[in-house]
Amino acid sequence: MIRTVLGEIQEDRFGPALAHEHLYCNIARHSGNLDNAMMDWELIVRELDSFKAAGGQGIMEVTPVDLEGDAAALRRISAASGVHIVRGIAFYQEDSYPRWLTTATVGQIEDFFVREIEEGGEGIPAGFIGEIGSHNRPEPDFLGYRLTEGETRVFQAAAGAQKRTGVLISTHACLGRAGHAQLNVLEAAGADLSRVVIGHCDAHYHDDEERDLEYYLPMLERGAYVEFDLIGWVDEWPGCPTDEIRARRLASLVRLGYQDQLLVATDTCRLSQLRANGGRGYDFFWSDFLPRLRREGVGQDALDAILIRNPGRAANIS
Ligand SMILES: [Zn+2]
Repeated sequence: MIRTVLGEIQEDRFGPALAHEHLYCNIARHSGNLDNAMMDWELIVRELDSFKAAGGQGIMEVTPVDLEGDAAALRRISAASGVHIVRGIAFYQEDSYPRWLTTATVGQIEDFFVREIEEGGEGIPAGFIGEIGSHNRPEPDFLGYRLTEGETRVFQAAAGAQKRTGVLISTHACLGRAGHAQLNVLEAAGADLSRVVIGHCDAHYHDDEERDLEYYLPMLERGAYVEFDLIGWVDEWPGCPTDEIRARRLASLVRLGYQDQLLVATDTCRLSQLRANGGRGYDFFWSDFLPRLRREGVGQDALDAILIRNPGRAANIS
């Protein structure tokens, strides 16, 4: 079963689904950019029309507590739009943590996650943990990346809560290519890495594909999902790939046999990305990216895995 904000549904009803989106968030708190204050649930209901028309049915909503994730808003959006929404519970990065977290023990944070999963704020349980983040300072070599002390406690608590509830853990591993460091902390704390999604794997690229595969393949070998969730984000920061490169890298991973461990999304979190404001909309994966994947040779079975079977399995907590 999948625990949506409106109740449980069967796994096979969830997809096609995007595994890392925001529907209601205030990232302006963190970024200082008012374009990131996306807090109009009725506007989002209208935005989801294009998502549904394109074929989308489900969304994993990853807004952390410290970016003002709001369970009640998500329930209103789901009820009015008919889109299945699974709500994540998370803390973002150490510089935006709520004050209580800075002195909380791993056990206290773990208990908080479990309460949110079993009961939930306002009686709306979370269906997974995510996106839990670690800092964005880039390291020259991803193997040299380390989580801070506070981030380490949050990741250890997530592993503990996963052991008690079976939920998926979804991460924010951005500019530092932090995936391996995140998996190391989770593994040492006893997490099941086949129930972990490393987010933002497509934030950076190298011209030499081998160097990108050096990052992806060991994470896939360890059992984790590799998520390309920045589809549609181009020229945003140094080293940011084009969608053409994202499609090529995904096609390579499918050819190498990893179609069952790939997830996709567009990480919508800005008012300017909404169709109402002239942006690309929640349907961008279908309108723009899917044809690229097909041109790169990704077949229907792999697309069904990436869009339907994988998010269904990932979100399933039974
Ligand atoms: Zn993120």
